[in-house]
Amino acid sequence: MNILFALAEAFPFIKAGGLGDVGGSLPGALLKEGADVRVIMPRYRSIPEELLQEARFLGRFTVNLSWRKRSAGLLEVPYGGVTYYLIEEEEYFGREGLYGYFDDGERFAFFSKAVLEALALMKDFPVDILHCHDWHAAAIPLFLKEQYGKSPRHQKIRSLLTIHNLRHQGFMGNEAFGDLLGFGNNQRKAYNWLAYEGQLNLLKGGLMAADLISTVSPAYAREIQTPYYGEGLEEVIRYRSRDLSGILNGIDSDKYKPLKDKSLWVNFRSSLDKKGENKLRLQEELGLPVGKDIPMAVMVTRLVDQKGLDLLAHILPELLTLPLELVILGTGEPRYETILKKAEAAWPEKLRALIRYDEGLAHKLYASGDLLLMPSLFEPCGLSQMIAMAYGTLPVVRETGGLKDSVIPYNQFTGEGTGFTFTNYNAHEFLDAVRRAVGLYRENPAAWKALADNALAQDFSWKKSAGEYMGLYHRLLSRK
Ligand code: ADP
Repeated sequence: MNILFALAEAFPFIKAGGLGDVGGSLPGALLKEGADVRVIMPRYRSIPEELLQEARFLGRFTVNLSWRKRSAGLLEVPYGGVTYYLIEEEEYFGREGLYGYFDDGERFAFFSKAVLEALALMKDFPVDILHCHDWHAAAIPLFLKEQYGKSPRHQKIRSLLTIHNLRHQGFMGNEAFGDLLGFGNNQRKAYNWLAYEGQLNLLKGGLMAADLISTVSPAYAREIQTPYYGEGLEEVIRYRSRDLSGILNGIDSDKYKPLKDKSLWVNFRSSLDKKGENKLRLQEELGLPVGKDIPMAVMVTRLVDQKGLDLLAHILPELLTLPLELVILGTGEPRYETILKKAEAAWPEKLRALIRYDEGLAHKLYASGDLLLMPSLFEPCGLSQMIAMAYGTLPVVRETGGLKDSVIPYNQFTGEGTGFTFTNYNAHEFLDAVRRAVGLYRENPAAWKALADNALAQDFSWKKSAGEYMGLYHRLLSRK
C-alpha cells in the first residue's frame, strides 16, 4: 500500500503548529503498520540547509496553471526512516516562513497541481492513496477527479482529505477558476464544488471531491456539523457525513519523554520532586519568585482567538490574584502580544510573556509547569494538552473537540482524572477551573500526585490512531 501525504508542514523541516507535528510523526507510525508512507511538501527557504544534506535531485517538471507554465524541481530527502519529497519553485516558496502572503491561494493551488505532476518522477513509488491535509492540499482531490480522471497514472488513485483546522479554507477570486486553476467554463461540477459566497473556496472543493474525509478528533467531527463550529461549511460536512471519520492525533512519544528529553534541566520519570527541579531553574532564569510549592501554570500556544486568549485576557487580573505564577510562550496576533506584555509589566512577580517561537523552551515549560492552560474556543485536536500530560503537567481545558476526547476531568469523589475541565466558553468558568486546580495543588498533594500519575500513564502514542488510518486506507482501496 503506497500512501503519499501532501501537506504544508512537517517537523523538523518546518512547523507552525500541530500540523507540523503530525507531518513529522504520523508517517513513521504508519510505516510500522506496514504501509509505505512518504511525504510531499514545498521546499520553503526557511527549511534549514543542514536537513537537506542528503537531498537527491530527482528532476524537473512543468506545472500548467492555465496559461502560466511553471517549471519546478523535485528533491528526495530521507529523514528518520521516511522519504520526504520537496517541491522547489523559487518564486512561490523561496520566501521566509510558511504562510501569510497575499498569494497563498495561488501558491498552494500550484503546490496541489505540482504534487500530481511530480508523481511521474517517483519511479519506484506508484501511489495508491493521496492523503491530503488541510486547505493547502485540498485542491488535489478536486484536480484528481476533474482534471486528471483520464490519465492512466492518476485514474486509480484514491484520496483522503484530513481537516486539521476548519477555520483556514483557502479563498480565491472567481477569476481564478479558469485563469489559474485551469478549469473550462463548462465544468459546472467543479465550479459548484468550489463556489462559496461569491468566491472560490479550495477547502470546500476538496471536501466535495475527496473520496473520504477525516478530522483529528471524534468530538470535532461531530461539532463541525453544527453552525457554531462549522465555519460556514457545516452543510457541506453534513452532506458528506457518511464519509467522515474523527481520528485523534497522537504525539511522538520518543520526542516528548521526560526521562530522555535533552532540553530539560533535570530528567524524570514520575517523581514530582525531580520535575520540580525544572520549575526552580525556570523561575530563576525568568527572575520569578523561586519556590517549589508555588503552583506554576504554563501556556505554549499560538496567540489567536481559537486558543481562548479572550477568556484569559478577561480574567487575567483575577487569575493573577491566585497564588500562582503564569508563564506564556507564544506568538501571534499583535493585540494579544500587547495585552500580555502590558500585564507582565503590571505583575512582574506573577507573569512572564515570552513572545517567540522556541522549541527547546517549550519543552522546558511543559516539564516545569504544574498546570497547562488551554481554554480554547474550538480545538480540532490539540497537542499541547497531550504533551503536557506526558510531562505530568495537568491541563485545564474547555471541553471541546480533541480536548474533550483526551482530558479526563478530575472527579473529587473517585479521584480519577487527568486534568480540569469546564464546559462553556465563559471566562469565569475558566477561572473557576483554575481555582479548583490551584486549590487541589495546595491542599491535597496526595490527590495531585495521583492525578499526575494518571496523566503520565496515558498512552498518546500514534499506535491506535495509525491503526484507524489503516482502516480508512483499506476502505478506500476496496472502492471501485
Ligand atoms: P495548533 O496546531 O492549533 O497550533 P496544537 O496544540 O495542536 O495547536 O499544536 C501546537 C504545537 O506547536 C505544539 O507542539 C506546541 O508545543 C507548539 N508551539 C506552539 N507555540 C509555540 C511556541 N511559541 N514555541 C514553541 N512551540 C510552540
